[in-house]
Amino acid sequence: MTAEILDGKKTSQKLLQQLQDEVKGLMHKPILAILLVGENQASKIYVNAKLKKAAEIGFETVFKNFPADATEDEIVKQITEWNNDKTITGILVQLPLPKHLDEHLILNKIDPIKDVDGLTVHNTGRFYSGQNPFAIPCTTRGIIMLLKEYNIELEGKNVVVIGRSNLVGKPTAQAFLYENATVTICHSKTRDLESIIKTADIVVSAVGEKIVNGKILKNNCVVVDVGIFRTPDGKITGDVEFESASQVASYISPVPGGVGPMTITGLMFNLMNLYLIQTGA
Ligand code: NAP
Repeated sequence: MTAEILDGKKTSQKLLQQLQDEVKGLMHKPILAILLVGENQASKIYVNAKLKKAAEIGFETVFKNFPADATEDEIVKQITEWNNDKTITGILVQLPLPKHLDEHLILNKIDPIKDVDGLTVHNTGRFYSGQNPFAIPCTTRGIIMLLKEYNIELEGKNVVVIGRSNLVGKPTAQAFLYENATVTICHSKTRDLESIIKTADIVVSAVGEKIVNGKILKNNCVVVDVGIFRTPDGKITGDVEFESASQVASYISPVPGGVGPMTITGLMFNLMNLYLIQTGA
């Protein structure tokens, strides 16, 4: 068997076109505010991609780049200013932050109703207790949107999520639980990972290492590859050995062109959602 590709690029284009049409009809354009601390090259690329996509859709954007040695007080002051500015719809602090800054403290200064990444304690609390969060993390939202676009049934499926970060693994597991899947979360201390993966109807790998291959997958399973990293020769790759996995799986997301574009899509939909909540539309 050769798996069907879960094409994140194509799906993202389709969904964002619909969003763009919706934005055209709005009286006031939603505004996305992004805060970056330091000069991390990968972060700058991600931020530029988010700003560019938001502008293409018709959102307005505000961007502040603080120096790498910025203090917590300076950053919190900016967030507070945006919280109090009624024209700002969503606030995103690009992660990771430099080591001297307390990530949790800073993220939790964002007004939950403007928390476009869904990472404040308020929104995670609402998410994990089934109380309509204002937003959920963008990669998670993007993964679920991608699978739904391909009409992949989630209810009752055995889903194995590899990775338990607050950014990807945990919220993704929670989202599948919400979809009535049976979810197993694996991590670096999991014993006999391969035999757990073998039970999965859907495998989501969010590790950052080549960890999944065709030999350990169940026939016809769905494979979602979240990982992105560079091989020693500089090529961008994911957690899954694509060649062998695509011989066994029924669907597989490639890297690049799978979950990456869907993460930005999740962000854009989150912003629109916040706008609708804030304006009561
Ligand atoms: P992270 O915070 O480093 O988490 C990695 C997770 O993988 C941890 O839970 C870790 O377990 C687990 N892990 C590490 N080695 C393992 C092993 N040998 N077996 C099983 N589990 C193992 O990373 P992240 O932020 O979640 O991101 C994960 C990957 O996704 C990265 O490659 C990142 O670049 C990528 N990513 C992609 C997108 C996208 O849009 N496509 C978005 C976000 C992230 P412990 O908790 O036990 O340490």
